[in-house]
Order: sequence, then structure tokens, then C-alpha cells
Amino acid sequence: MATPLTAARLLAALKAEGVALREHAGWRTHNRNDKGPWGGVNGVVIHHTAGASSLDLVWSGTASLPGPLCHTHLAKNGTATMVGHGRANHAGTFARNAHQAVVAESPVHPRPDAAEPVDGNRHYYGIEIENRGDGRDPYPAAQYDQAVRWAAAICRAHGWTHHSVIGHKEGTRRKIDPSFDMNTFRTGVAARLRHPPEWNPRHESSG
Ligand SMILES: [Zn+2]
Repeated sequence: MATPLTAARLLAALKAEGVALREHAGWRTHNRNDKGPWGGVNGVVIHHTAGASSLDLVWSGTASLPGPLCHTHLAKNGTATMVGHGRANHAGTFARNAHQAVVAESPVHPRPDAAEPVDGNRHYYGIEIENRGDGRDPYPAAQYDQAVRWAAAICRAHGWTHHSVIGHKEGTRRKIDPSFDMNTFRTGVAARLRHPPEWNPRHESSG
């Protein structure tokens, strides 16, 4: 387990990795720390929003689930916005076997057990990626690339491998997000971690 990054350190790490950030006013003190512990931290959780235009929702949350609902919101156009720092209502409870796989940075992320004794909101950073989550709504390349950079930046700052990254669906049977393959996503994070943070791979042929 690691001590959570300060807001300043987190921001610097994300910017160094090439995440184009906006900052929601008040994000540094927007959290649920009065409801439970934040940290030590073990990893990052990837989510999809299952909707559109969801920045206001992830900031405020709902009557039954108050915000912040993540640490960073990632819009369809690739704009990342910091919305919380500290404990956030994004993960809920996790299965112990799923959490232990992250703690051990195991290359195998097992199907989560039905029982969920782990306080995921205590131990994980979370990003909400704007997508309908229906398997048909695409993740534009710019948006997906920003998500990979976000995860890699936090892993790099903590000295974690790409196996500290899981999808929400890998932590609990209750969820199906994100609607993309997490092994492919982790492979992208691993590629970044083999390079310096400013790495900008060219996806097109160099001819
Ligand atoms: Zn989720």
C-alpha cells in the first residue's frame, strides 16, 4: 500500500504523461473523506459512465450516491477534468480475491468472488470515461489514449506496474464497465511505462 499522492504531485504526474487537464473549481478538497478512510492506495480503477455529458453528474453525484463519483472525468473529446481528490464514490465494495491480485500485481486478474469485503473507495483512484457502455458506442482514439496516459501516470508516480490497473468489472460482479478489454488496456499502460512519461508514439506508419 502507498500513501496517496498529494493533489500537486498527482497533477504534475498527469501533466508529465501528456494528460490535457482541466480542473473543476474546488476539486482539491472535493471528496468523501468525512465518510471513511482514503488510502493506503493500491491501484487505479477504470470506469465508463454509461451516459453522455456526465461531468456535472460525477461532480455532484446523486441523492443516494453523493459525488465525487471519480477523481478524473474523461469526456468523449478527450478532455480530462479533475473533479475530486481523496475518497470518492467510484468503486464501492470489491471482492477480496480481485483486490489481492492488484496488491500482488498478479498478471492474472481472477473473476471476482461474490463476497465483497474490501472498501474499494479507500484503496483506488478512479477515472470515469464518457461512453454509453452499450458495446456500440466507440471510444475515440484521443479519448482512449488519454485514459491510458492517466493510468500510466499514476502507476509511474507510485512505482506500480500495469497490473495495478483494473476495470470496475474486474473488482466486482456487480459491474460491467468498462466496455473494452482490460488486458489490451493494460498492455497499453505497460508500453508507456517502458518509456519516459513524455513518450508520444506515432500510431500511423512512418513510411
Ligand atoms: Zn464503474
